[in-house]
Amino acid sequence: MIRIVNKSESTSTETKDEFKYFVDQFEDMRVLKYKLPAFEELSLQQKKFIYYLSEAALSGRDILWDQNFRYNLQIRKTTEAIIASYSGDKERAEYKSFITWAKRMFFVNGIHHHYSSDKLKPGITIEYFISLMKGVPSENLPLLAGQSVENLISVLVPVLFDEKLYAKKVELKAGVDMITESASNFYSGVTQKEVEKFYASKIMADDRRPVSHGLNSQVLKIDGVVAENVYKSGGKYGAAIDKIVLWLEKAIVVAETENQKTELNLLIEFYKSGDLKVWDEYNIAWAKNTGTMVDYINGFIENYEDPLGMKATWESVVEYTDVEATRRTRIITANAQWFEDNSPVQSEYKKEKVTGVAAKVINVAMLGGDCYPASPLGINLPNANWIRKEIGSKSVTLANITKAHDITSQGNGFLEEFAVDKAEVSRIRKYETSADALHTDLHECVGHASGKLGEGTDPNALKNYASALEEARADLFALYFMMDKKIIELGLLPDEDAALASYDTYLRNGLLTQIVRVKPGKEIEEAHMRNRSAVSHWVYEKGKVQNVVEFIKRGNKTFVKINDYRRLQSLFGDLLREVQRIKSEGDYEAGQRLIEDFGVKVDPVLHHEILERYAKLNLAPYTGFVNPMLIPAYDKNGVMTDVKVEYAEGYLEQMMYYGKNYSFLSL
Ligand SMILES: [Zn+2]
Repeated sequence: MIRIVNKSESTSTETKDEFKYFVDQFEDMRVLKYKLPAFEELSLQQKKFIYYLSEAALSGRDILWDQNFRYNLQIRKTTEAIIASYSGDKERAEYKSFITWAKRMFFVNGIHHHYSSDKLKPGITIEYFISLMKGVPSENLPLLAGQSVENLISVLVPVLFDEKLYAKKVELKAGVDMITESASNFYSGVTQKEVEKFYASKIMADDRRPVSHGLNSQVLKIDGVVAENVYKSGGKYGAAIDKIVLWLEKAIVVAETENQKTELNLLIEFYKSGDLKVWDEYNIAWAKNTGTMVDYINGFIENYEDPLGMKATWESVVEYTDVEATRRTRIITANAQWFEDNSPVQSEYKKEKVTGVAAKVINVAMLGGDCYPASPLGINLPNANWIRKEIGSKSVTLANITKAHDITSQGNGFLEEFAVDKAEVSRIRKYETSADALHTDLHECVGHASGKLGEGTDPNALKNYASALEEARADLFALYFMMDKKIIELGLLPDEDAALASYDTYLRNGLLTQIVRVKPGKEIEEAHMRNRSAVSHWVYEKGKVQNVVEFIKRGNKTFVKINDYRRLQSLFGDLLREVQRIKSEGDYEAGQRLIEDFGVKVDPVLHHEILERYAKLNLAPYTGFVNPMLIPAYDKNGVMTDVKVEYAEGYLEQMMYYGKNYSFLSL
């Protein structure tokens, strides 16, 4: 499962940090770089391990492109050929429009938008596209055996320009055949009914440890019979899978522990056989392996792109532990009992013995497949429910990716537009990254882990409000303790102003800006957003008499001002006590009232104002990343002596480089 945190406050401008995060922006997308902190301090063996895993991460790129849509590879290769051979005026408006479309295509790994799923509009005329294609020497075009340039043009023009053809990558509308109406390539020449029948015969209801049926195959008809073409060595995508295996084999030699070697061997066995039982064995081994500095994900993992939720796209992330941040979460978990004992919750609902959850904070070294260029901010795997239940899962926060988001959001005008005064702006600039990280750590490591149910309380009593209330509980735990002097004593924050910054951000978001994600006329539905809205509006209402928090109007703009931070902290404490009581007693009615009265509704006048102010900032809502370049150094005998990190590559440059060096599937 991938966690996408609310990071809509994106930008195009640069900030004080000397590392240049910003790379490019086009229409709704922007591209940043991420930095590899303390990479030089890793051992040579760890660097080599990261390098080999990174090559494996890049080698599966074509698989994702083909999974997304069957013409994607041919379209991408045509586009690469045009860009490589174009010698005309690059400032020409039409060419620039073509490049914008190409950049967006690279961003979403195909011709369909990664969020809306709609086909991208090329923004140029058919005639211009044909003239670009004709400008490429025919031997550079990705022609199929016996295909003429004319024929390729006649294939690609309707695919790209006919708005009704392959209009959506994933069609989820009820009442239509989601398989035939989706352009994605998990199924070929089969209907939804046929697919459902095919898998119904495989799935046994009483299987307590079911394999992930259908995860790694395309469904098609062979001689009129529905069948699977399995992604494996020698099977579908075999050429790319063999490259992944080759790099994983090199990685095994320098893996950190015997367990990690065993685990990688299982992954290779899975890639060679396509056997889903081996995939489960691999995931169990991977989930158990928690002590290493370097870790990774690599495989067919997430099923968001399949309308039937079975087929997984290929993805990879290579990562190493963020030592400093992990130190922080260790301090928190070591003091978990202190937090529990000192929380404002009624004593009968406190845990006598609380063990914090050690969330691991990592830095990304390479993104690949469906994690590139748009990266998740947190990852929690494996996905198989029975493995999660029996073995557990690994949860990581991607620190350097989050930091790149945070730092670049400081200079985009968002804060200046919505913060109440200059003092708030400078406080946020100074503390946002550290306060944000600590809030997340407290939320994850002790917030969710705290408290207990009353005797005989049904754990499912809160039903549809359970998630929002659980998030509120964890947020309130973090908010309440952020301003406690214990935090400064433990060295988790430099001073009290940092806590003020986190209160500023929380209420500004909960009372004002998070509704930029809600369409006009709609209410708040997502659980995290309902939680933030409920918490913020509740403390606002309860502190009204004492004017703890107030809305300020300047001209026709609304701002939030906190007048009494101490009093606000105690209001957070009051609400924490109440939310814990609701959970412990399973008080559905009180939970419903809290969420419905404070968390769901949006004031239409304020909503309109916020949306308008936000639109004027002209921000790109989707962020992607350029990978660093990992460059091995060798001695005169060809032995690797070091791996260096360089950040110089541009966005289009990297896409062209990957197209040339990591494309292993033929058309
Ligand atoms: Zn949470």
